[in-house]
This record gives sequence, C-alpha cells and structure tokens, in this order.
Amino acid sequence: MLPIERRQQLLKWLKEVGSLSIAEISGRLHVSEMTVYRDIRPLLDEGQIIKTSGGISLAPVSQMSSNTCNYCLKELHNRHPFQIITNDLKVEQLCCPHCGLLRYKDIEKDVSQIICRDFLQNSTISAKMAYYLMDTDFNLNCCQPQVLTFESLKHAEQFQKGFGGVVMRFEEAIDEIQKRMNGAMGCLCKK
Ligand SMILES: [Zn+2]
Ligand SMILES: [Zn+2]
Repeated sequence: MLPIERRQQLLKWLKEVGSLSIAEISGRLHVSEMTVYRDIRPLLDEGQIIKTSGGISLAPVSQMSSNTCNYCLKELHNRHPFQIITNDLKVEQLCCPHCGLLRYKDIEKDVSQIICRDFLQNSTISAKMAYYLMDTDFNLNCCQPQVLTFESLKHAEQFQKGFGGVVMRFEEAIDEIQKRMNGAMGCLCKK
C-alpha cells in the first residue's frame, strides 16, 4: 500500500470506530509504528485528525471548519446560529438564518438536515418546520435582511406583536431573501 492509500484507509477506519491507537494502526496496516507516525503527519498538519490520549481520532467538525460562517465568512458568535448537515455528514455552521437559508439554496441537493434555534426558547428545531420572522424592529446585528426563527407560529406571532415584521414559512422565507439579495440594495432598507 502506498502512504496515500494507507492514509485513506486510516480515515475510513476512524470514521467507523472514532479513534485508534498508534499500535492498533500499525497492526491493522502491517507497518511499523514509525511509519504510522510518518503517515499521519500530513493529516495532523491539515487538521483532519487530532492526537488524543489514546492515539488519534478524526478532528471534531468545529476544528475542521474554521470558526466562520460558511456563507458570509463572518466570525460566528452564535447569537442565533443555523446548521446544515450535508449528505456526507459534514456540519456547516452559519452565523444566522439569513445565511443559513441562502447557503441551503446553494447546496440544496447535498443537504440532509437543517437545524436552527427557536429565538425565544433557544430550543433546537428543524429549519423546514420553523416559522420565519422578517423585518422586525429587533436588531440581531448580523446579516440583512434579517430573519429570526421560531418553533411555533404562536411564538412568532407574539414576537411580531412586540417588534413587528412578517411571518413566513421556510420556502417563502428563502424566496423573499433571494429576491431582496438579487434586487437593488435599496430594498434592504426598512420601509
Ligand atoms: Zn453568515
Ligand atoms: Zn449573519
């Protein structure tokens, strides 16, 4: 086996079992531990794997993708985060539902799950089931046009009573954001 083949095999095993010790890897690959260390060096450098007390394991996703939004590349501060899980089980972090919806539209066919948070309760909800509130007076200080997500229509409407805005479903919210992003910058302003 070539070093590159050994590395691919190793990543496959790590996906299956989580972590492996150097001795286990050397046994499985029938190479010396010295060779294992040489093999894993590039993977460590690239941040694909990390050293653990017992050996090595795949890098947690947060360390693999840097701490920035996958769409607008702003630093994540997780005030109102949005996550997309792809079919090959990568987790993408988005700074807010605005970026989440636009990113979803970009990679729609590779998406297996979309998760967001209820703005009031901070509970985890499926983005496709969520209610989206746009044009509220409440400013998240993230991307414009701003979108807030709610688990129930009741909460969205209660929030809307206090801060205004329009409640939408998933597809409507995507259409609306896309329309505004493609339109003149002027329509990003509040009426
Ligand atoms: Zn973003
Ligand atoms: Zn944002």
